Amino acid sequence: MTTTDSPLTSVRRPTEYVASTLNAKAPVGPIEKKWEKHKFDMKLVNPANKRKYTVIMVGTGLAGAAAAATMAELGYNVQAFCYQDSPRRAHSIAAQGGINAAKNYQNDGDSVYRLFYDTIKGGDFRAREANVYRLAEVSVNIIDQCVAQGVPFAREYAGYLDNRSFGGAQVSRTFYARGQTGQQLLLGAYQALSRQIGLGKVQMFPRTEMLDLVIIDGRARGIVTRNMVTGKIESHIADAVVIASGGYSNVFYLSTNAKGCNTTAIWRAHRRGAFFANPCYTQIHPTCIPVSGDHQSKLTLMSESLRNDGRVWVPKKAGDSRPPHQIPDSERDYFLERKYPSYGNLAPRDISSRSAKQVCDEGRGVGPGGLGVYLDLGDAIKRLGADTVKERYGNLFDMYERITGENPYEVPFRIYPAVHYTMGGLWVDYNLMSTIPGLFVAGEANFSDHGANRLGASALMQGLADGYFVLPYTIGDYLARGGLAKADTTHPAFKEVESEIAGQVNKFMSINGKRTVDDFHRELGKLMWADCGMARNDAGLRKALQRIPELRAEFWENVRVPGSADDLNQSLEKAGRVADFMELAELMCRDALHRTESCGGHFREESQTPEGEALRDDENFAYVAAWEWNGAGQGQNLHREALNYESVQLATRSYK
Ligand SMILES: Cc1cc2nc3c(=O)[nH]c(=O)nc-3n(C[C@H](O)[C@H](O)[C@H](O)COP(=O)(O)OP(=O)(O)OC[C@H]3O[C@@H](n4cnc5c(N)ncnc54)[C@H](O)[C@@H]3O)c2cc1C
Repeated sequence: MTTTDSPLTSVRRPTEYVASTLNAKAPVGPIEKKWEKHKFDMKLVNPANKRKYTVIMVGTGLAGAAAAATMAELGYNVQAFCYQDSPRRAHSIAAQGGINAAKNYQNDGDSVYRLFYDTIKGGDFRAREANVYRLAEVSVNIIDQCVAQGVPFAREYAGYLDNRSFGGAQVSRTFYARGQTGQQLLLGAYQALSRQIGLGKVQMFPRTEMLDLVIIDGRARGIVTRNMVTGKIESHIADAVVIASGGYSNVFYLSTNAKGCNTTAIWRAHRRGAFFANPCYTQIHPTCIPVSGDHQSKLTLMSESLRNDGRVWVPKKAGDSRPPHQIPDSERDYFLERKYPSYGNLAPRDISSRSAKQVCDEGRGVGPGGLGVYLDLGDAIKRLGADTVKERYGNLFDMYERITGENPYEVPFRIYPAVHYTMGGLWVDYNLMSTIPGLFVAGEANFSDHGANRLGASALMQGLADGYFVLPYTIGDYLARGGLAKADTTHPAFKEVESEIAGQVNKFMSINGKRTVDDFHRELGKLMWADCGMARNDAGLRKALQRIPELRAEFWENVRVPGSADDLNQSLEKAGRVADFMELAELMCRDALHRTESCGGHFREESQTPEGEALRDDENFAYVAAWEWNGAGQGQNLHREALNYESVQLATRSYK
């Protein structure tokens, strides 16, 4: 082991583990029948036997809470873990804009097939067809489920559920609850979870962080956790493990994600043998409040829903510093409407973000530092009246004013792209099972449905689809197939992992260096934004690949973690997470370097059309890149899952 490595094991996985050959296990047959047929073909667990099985759920955001509640409702025992003090504080609560579903309530031409097609196309033809079709199919059940739970979706005057539009779609299929959709959906899932906690079917472990996965006889059988209040390291055993730990955008330090979001659960599982898919696919969201200085520790999203009524523009002339109301319409460049007339301000996120970067690079950006564009609701206020606009977006306007001190009813919002969502994650098959048998992955933590770019309002849909409607079937099928050995937490595999975790904690406490964890994290984030951010190129990625191991080496020698390990210690928590970000960052850059095409959120500067649009290379890159951990300091092996399109034709994405 070199000094640049974490003291966690460098052993990849037990030798008895048999490597998967990346069989996606997508059922054969017509796309619209696959899920139905698969549900019929899967084995069932007899109702009386369900209580004999225990499932571990790492994460109780939308995906995890939905899965935990549903599994418990079916009769399984669930042990659920989250690092917050309550599942209600999962990052899902931050989701503002809405959730997609192919209900076609607006009668505007929507259908399951159209949502499927939009998602495949939005993902730049880099997602697995069968999964995406299933997602579109069950989207309609999600709305029914949530309405039955009492989720207060916005309604029209007549009482019907209301919809609005999100990027990459020409229909209105986004259900919403003001600008608080994630919060309301999470409260729905949380109440279902609470009911099961009350019934004793779910044992909830808040303030408990999973720090490693335990594998016995080649199957995921448990986790090792640290109690974040007492520091106690403990083992938990089960018959299957689900990771629903959210996304890893915070590898960039500044992102729209909650500060706690991290990669630890999936990264440690990766180190135990779970393949990591498409790590470089990062979504940059076009409508965030611009960075205002070095003091910031996070960025704020202004929901994409504002693009329904807002118009994005910059001055036509570079260096025009007049205040917005002094710039007449004829001297404004509504660049999204100009470049993409059919989708206009609702062009997908990757395309809108790059366009904003482009006009700022031309010196036409607005606000301090010129890294901003206007999102102007002035016309909408004139057309609809301030009251209607307030009804639709009031809380977003208030939030913006509180942060910037500017009143967006009077001056346009200033926005700039920021890191927002990670399409990459642990590789899963159609059953949402990783390459480790018995380890399932749900929500943003898996790579499954969004290809190289996620469409707005589709993450909540995916998390809830995975949790309410997919895992309860597929985990049952796995358990019904049997073959699990009897074991408990005295098994040597648990003891080994416990002692490794204790070793890592001790190491952090003993380094006693000079730089804070945040200081290292900030440097890593800046480097990732510069070289593996909105645009990437060969030279930048190679530079990052040289610098990251140096930074990691310095981290392990010079990080300072004050306080005690037997107490609440946020520096210690962050140190473990940043150690994992350091390794993940390197894999992201390697993935980005090897993919010499541009696709979706991955824009390789060397691969663009003369108009500056992303240029895909289907001949060489129509695959999922799944990376296999090879031991510390050894780099990862690349496995490819070919993407075969039977129901849609590969086409150049155009939103013109
Ligand atoms: C500002 C913002 C607005 C958004 N708006 C929308 C929107 O309008 N529509 C939409 O579709 N999507 C939106 N998204 C994306 C969406 O919110 C997320 O993708 C989604 O909520 C992720 O849900 P999840 O259940 O996968 O993870 P999360 O909600 O992040 O939950 C993760 C859970 O895992 C737990 N956890 C993590 N690691 C560990 C560990 N090691 N040990 C124990 N527990 C752990 C956490 O405690 C938490 O319970 C938005 C994202 C942001 C940042």
